[in-house]
Amino acid sequence: MKVIIIGGGTGGMCLAHGLRQAGIEVAVHERYGSRRDGLYGYRVGIDPTGNRALRQCLPPRLFDTFVATCARTPRHFNVLTQSKHVTASIPLRDDVDDVNSERSVSRSTLRQILFTGMDDVIHFGKDFTHYEQHENGTVTAYFADGTHDTGDLLVAADGTRSALRRQFLPHAEIKEAGITSIATKTALTPETRALLSAETANGISLIFGTKGLLGMLHVMEFKWDADGNPKNPEDAALLQDWSGLQFDNSRDYINLSVWSSHEHFPEGIEQQRGAELIATALRVTENWHPDLRRLFELSDPEAAFPLRISTSVPVEPWKSTNITLLGDAIHTMTPGQGVGANTALRDAALLCQEIIAADRGRKTLLAAVEGYEAEMLPYGFARVADSLDNNGTSGDDPLYKPGVGRLALFAARTYFSLTAKIPALRRKFLEDLYTYRGADA
Ligand SMILES: Cc1cc2nc3c(=O)[nH]c(=O)nc-3n(C[C@H](O)[C@H](O)[C@H](O)COP(=O)(O)OP(=O)(O)OC[C@H]3O[C@@H](n4cnc5c(N)ncnc54)[C@H](O)[C@@H]3O)c2cc1C
Repeated sequence: MKVIIIGGGTGGMCLAHGLRQAGIEVAVHERYGSRRDGLYGYRVGIDPTGNRALRQCLPPRLFDTFVATCARTPRHFNVLTQSKHVTASIPLRDDVDDVNSERSVSRSTLRQILFTGMDDVIHFGKDFTHYEQHENGTVTAYFADGTHDTGDLLVAADGTRSALRRQFLPHAEIKEAGITSIATKTALTPETRALLSAETANGISLIFGTKGLLGMLHVMEFKWDADGNPKNPEDAALLQDWSGLQFDNSRDYINLSVWSSHEHFPEGIEQQRGAELIATALRVTENWHPDLRRLFELSDPEAAFPLRISTSVPVEPWKSTNITLLGDAIHTMTPGQGVGANTALRDAALLCQEIIAADRGRKTLLAAVEGYEAEMLPYGFARVADSLDNNGTSGDDPLYKPGVGRLALFAARTYFSLTAKIPALRRKFLEDLYTYRGADA
């Protein structure tokens, strides 16, 4: 059996590792020209669901390297006002074990982990254009450079703008969530650290500002220093052995983003980059605390990017064939619950198991694809709905409406401050959070 995967992102590479470990022939075709391209980075929170999938699919030593390359685990979930006042701070659980822990990983580092040891599997510079199914049950993928590849199963792992989905499920709809976000990255230095309180420096902070402006602040501290050398001798063996560190450009940083409904931002913001985009972030956050605005001023212009947040419309099940989809290619979701990458990883682990069952003769390949899709579609689109409904990631959220927005802001701040103060509510909040994110009971 040969599996062809389009897209060497989070889900596609996880699946490729799992298949390769099982001795199944697999080829990944990635649009980027090389391992060094597409390394823009922001924090991705990997939860127990994602950890479990990575542990299932990656070789054990690479999984250990993944754990070693994560940033320090956040210790608090904070809610801040635009004046930097902490209205709620909820201590998060300590790392329990390799699976039942929340991890902060830089997107570019995770990408390098997933490329490790896969030189013979991944083909860079392959921009998928279309496919053809043949009567003998095989399927051929075609690329913009005139080449093609034929296999028994074709997997769309090519993200939100999936060209494969457009041909296979032309009725599947990606739509705007109505939110624009500006993401920035500022080096963590003694100067920038001094701008943060202890809780903020050690946690994840959601900023509920007035005038319909929300923000998120993460501090990413890695196990290597500015020169890429391990900070602690006990990490040296794994990190020095790992070739990916030569390609990864992540150094300790602060990830600060601001978002709101589109009308809070100027027309054409999606074309803005660098200093112009940072100036826009400063303009929309004029009433924010000077320390928060200083983080924007000190941020790396090259790393700032605007984002129009997308979501997807649930698709009715279709008749399974030798083409399937995973991750954002089928169920793009807003970052509201922080589970897009985790769901792509969950898909990869599930599909991998099903393909192995087919390869070992326990079921047909078609039954394997059917089994995967029957499970993936309900949980995938449930998460799309949950994500749209959370943390103001839909432009329809009352937070962005004039007048009623003030009440919504008051309600949101009060909810979190009561949750932080009342032990029973705090326990329930944490239990729900960790259960949703796949922690073992
Ligand atoms: C600001 C932000 C914050 C986020 N935070 C979190 C978080 O905390 N936790 C979380 O779980 N998720 C988070 N997400 C979501 C997460 O990043 C995505 O859901 C996840 O990367 C999806 O993985 P994927 O494998 O489906 O697609 P991707 O990782 O996007 O990979 C798709 C790959 O396909 C390639 N490709 C595209 N077109 C073609 C083509 N025609 N031919 C060949 N290759 C192609 C692309 O180059 C890319 O490498 C966040 C997203 C955003 C925007």
